[in-house]
Amino acid sequence: MKVYADNAATTKMSRTAIDAMLPYMETVFGNPSSLYTIGQEAKEALENARERAARCLGCTPREITFTSGGSESDTQAIISAARAGEKKGKKHIISTAFEHHAVLHTLKRLEKEGFEISLLDVHSNGIVTPAEVEAAIREDTCLVTVMFANNEVGTIQPIAEIGAVCRAKGVLFHTDAVQAAGHVRINVSEMNIDMLSLSAHKFHGPKGCGILYARKGIILQNLIDGGAQERGKRPGTENIPSIMGMTAALEEACASIDEVTAKLIPLRNRLIAGLSEIPYSELNGDAEHRLPSNVNFCFEGIEGESLLLLLDDRGISASSGSACTSGSLDPSHVLLAIGRPHEVAHGSLRLSIGENTTEEEIDYIIKSVTEVVAQLRAMSPFWRDLVTGKRTHVFAK
Ligand SMILES: *Cc1c(COP(=O)(O)O)cnc(C)c1O
Repeated sequence: MKVYADNAATTKMSRTAIDAMLPYMETVFGNPSSLYTIGQEAKEALENARERAARCLGCTPREITFTSGGSESDTQAIISAARAGEKKGKKHIISTAFEHHAVLHTLKRLEKEGFEISLLDVHSNGIVTPAEVEAAIREDTCLVTVMFANNEVGTIQPIAEIGAVCRAKGVLFHTDAVQAAGHVRINVSEMNIDMLSLSAHKFHGPKGCGILYARKGIILQNLIDGGAQERGKRPGTENIPSIMGMTAALEEACASIDEVTAKLIPLRNRLIAGLSEIPYSELNGDAEHRLPSNVNFCFEGIEGESLLLLLDDRGISASSGSACTSGSLDPSHVLLAIGRPHEVAHGSLRLSIGENTTEEEIDYIIKSVTEVVAQLRAMSPFWRDLVTGKRTHVFAK
């Protein structure tokens, strides 16, 4: 059986998205800045896509900038807020310890420039509270950036409430909504969001394409120098095929959120219940306030990498930590942030299902993981130490 259970890393493009792209590669391939007909047709398509994307997010078309994806949008949002803050002598930024590296590394860069960064605790349930955000806001705070849903443990933050706190204090609020867009209802106006990042390939659109929403009045800093595209804030010939594919995918995903959520929650809970039967294992992140697609476990006495390879042999694509940290030997910063000790953080497994996942696939995953965990433990000196009592267990059972 072949089971793709890594939709948090990337998704397969939908037929709708592919079909929306093809005409802009084959026929209407003009440069939107050109004055002749196929250029102007491309320009019209671009502005039409902007209107449709804005409708999906609850903002106006002018507030949408097309980018190369989540990483670029995150970086541009944070740098823009930092530069605006700096001008007013405000050089304090609030975020959380378990953000995506696109956010954390941008903050690190600003810290080297003299900004002060406060990373809030996300507790063992993987959730930061609006009260904690409020308490951290100072006179010199220029930005709060808190992710909508975490990419590893899937926990969903109280974004509208955090937005309300920031709005009341007059501090800009950005959210990395890459895992949430197309999967959870988002309305930037109702949720008091000033800036939001999303990426097409996380909701069945093409890779290398994303959106930065920035509320009217916010001045974006361009990261690239060049022409006047995207009001000069994101120079470079627009990636029309991808923008068309992304917009079609976003509309399709947003229209089916309720239906997909209703389908995924029972499957996710079945998977959680099945994996909970494995001795000395625990679910990571809050059981309720999490993406309908996300299951993340730690298993004692296991190396995540070996687990993934053996699951791959059985046709299952999954991940340990995030795609960005695999290949490094460090345990996931997200699992450390929710308080998992190093030895169990190394033995994590993230399964992210999608609307095409079936109950048979869920049962196949449960059976495979249960067997592979037992197989790996039987070979592990670390596990032997736990069994013989030389080491003590981290989990109660
Ligand atoms: C995937 C991801 C990103 C990066 O998006 P890209 O389009 O791959 O650059 C940023 N943040 C989160 C939460 C993600 O899951």
